Amino acid sequence: MSETVLVYKGESIAAYGFGDPHPFGTDRHDVFHDELASAGLGDAIEFGHPRPALVDELALFHTADYIDKVSRLSAIGRGWLDEGDTPVVPGIYDAASAVVGAVLCAVDEVMHGNYRRAFIPIAGLHHAARNSAAGFCVFNDCGVAIEYLRRQFGLKRVAYVDIDAHHGDGVFYGFVDDPDLLFADIHEDGRFLYPGTGAAEETGTGRARGTKLNIPLAPGADDADFFGAWRRVEDYLESMRPEFIILQCGADSLEGDPITHLCWTEEAHAAAAGALCRIAGKHASGRIIGTGGGGYNRRNVARAWTRVVQSFVEAE
Ligand SMILES: [Zn+2]
Repeated sequence: MSETVLVYKGESIAAYGFGDPHPFGTDRHDVFHDELASAGLGDAIEFGHPRPALVDELALFHTADYIDKVSRLSAIGRGWLDEGDTPVVPGIYDAASAVVGAVLCAVDEVMHGNYRRAFIPIAGLHHAARNSAAGFCVFNDCGVAIEYLRRQFGLKRVAYVDIDAHHGDGVFYGFVDDPDLLFADIHEDGRFLYPGTGAAEETGTGRARGTKLNIPLAPGADDADFFGAWRRVEDYLESMRPEFIILQCGADSLEGDPITHLCWTEEAHAAAAGALCRIAGKHASGRIIGTGGGGYNRRNVARAWTRVVQSFVEAE
């Protein structure tokens, strides 16, 4: 039996990107959806069409000053949102709000029991902090979703699992002293790659000390290294018993990405997605969403994300 998976699609989220020659182009949405269409998943996929996030929803994670700043700069249409990674393009506020809206729609659908699993390709903007943009990320859809799950649905233990090549610093530091945000992140060692954080010793602060899992891998790490690390992620999640799982499955951890140095194949992404479905089934009433995250080699983006959706369809 296969699972019906909700996959988000639409111009409003496709528009999130920064134009040539920036690596985060607006073509990533169609590259993925073309590959997904050729995967023959048929009726196992249904498409969701997002709504924009409301200001009050963005403010669950972001500061009012920062939301205002993005709105103002978006209308001007030029400049930088951070120190030089994330340019302003006209309409970036609307596109970034659409990304958050899509993730909140997916959360609603899953929490209302209409689907157990959903995937949002243009999402997982994990570098954005509560009060700033960073690393191509304007609004942190995962951070907003975590706060939304708590506020709207009263969940306590949400798990955020990140296999993007870059450390999910916006989520990690956004909840660094919060023991109820379960955090597991396998990434390229920060001594070799942006944003430079995510050392194994970073396990949370204050009441959350010792509750979060950062696993840096050396440049060139392959599938064997991934699967060694992944066993620790599974053990961690089994012990923490999440009520909802958010996967950030950036495709920039695959071999051939132009801006990172990990060498996994899409088997890593497929296996991670399948394992998380099993863990969600055991502890979280099956509830999981996947967010696409980074990935700048178009073929890798298409294949890794399609394999994640396939695993969502096929996992028990
Ligand atoms: Zn990345």
